[in-house]
Amino acid sequence: MSDVPESHPRYQSLRLREAIVAGVDAGVTSPHGLIAHGRGEAYDYLIGEQTAPWAVTAIDAAAASLLRARHPVLSVNGNTAALVGEELVALSQAAKAPLEVNIFHTSSDRERRISQFLRQQGASEVLLPDGTTELPGLDSNRRFVHPAGILDADVIFVPLEDGDRCEALRRLGRQVITVDLNPLSRTARTASITIVDNVARALPRLISRVQQLIDDTNIDRQSLADAYEHEQLLAQAEARIRSGAD
Ligand code: ATP
Repeated sequence: MSDVPESHPRYQSLRLREAIVAGVDAGVTSPHGLIAHGRGEAYDYLIGEQTAPWAVTAIDAAAASLLRARHPVLSVNGNTAALVGEELVALSQAAKAPLEVNIFHTSSDRERRISQFLRQQGASEVLLPDGTTELPGLDSNRRFVHPAGILDADVIFVPLEDGDRCEALRRLGRQVITVDLNPLSRTARTASITIVDNVARALPRLISRVQQLIDDTNIDRQSLADAYEHEQLLAQAEARIRSGAD
């Protein structure tokens, strides 16, 4: 990173901040994404900037669910492309789940840039909304999808989701896995599996868990899924934030 030494106590946080700013400069991330990132930073500070046990349990359940899916799809927006583009490509390959660009603020130019950016990170295919296929029950730009991607998916991984689409997907009976540092957001509450952690920490763990489950067929995927207690894990994250305890 430019001029911040690795020994700086906020090195990781500053590194991510730079990645988001670079994403805006490259036309991949919306300027509004900076505000969403700032909100995430605040929650991350409050949970201690480390992956907590509630997130590990959710990551296990997410890995099991992606591997059990008929047609899993990974939804990518401007913030996640900038922060974890390479990891999303690796997860897509490991879980055999296509990447699909889906953004809140309408811009086909930015959709194309995100797609190019992911290809530079090694993606061989990136689905884009076709401009006519719509997800029912949603008014924002996020309703536009690809017919062979999110529209047909049974499990959708949507880190840094907006609450409206999460609710729309759940109403359609889809399983939604999200990563959201705010356990109180509508997305966190309405998703099927919520990983309350920074997406930059959660993704590498999720990839290695998926790989482990593929390599070791003796690991019981069902029990990993069953161990996930949505309300209870969100309550643990919220309690940590409210107590401010180490
Ligand atoms: P909702 O509609 O679900 O209530 P929101 O309007 O509060 O969401 P958005 O601005 O749509 O939030 O999305 C930003 C969300 O992503 C926030 O909850 C924020 O805490 C979270 N977030 C931002 N950066 C990260 C990150 N790096 N890792 C995980 N979560 C993040």
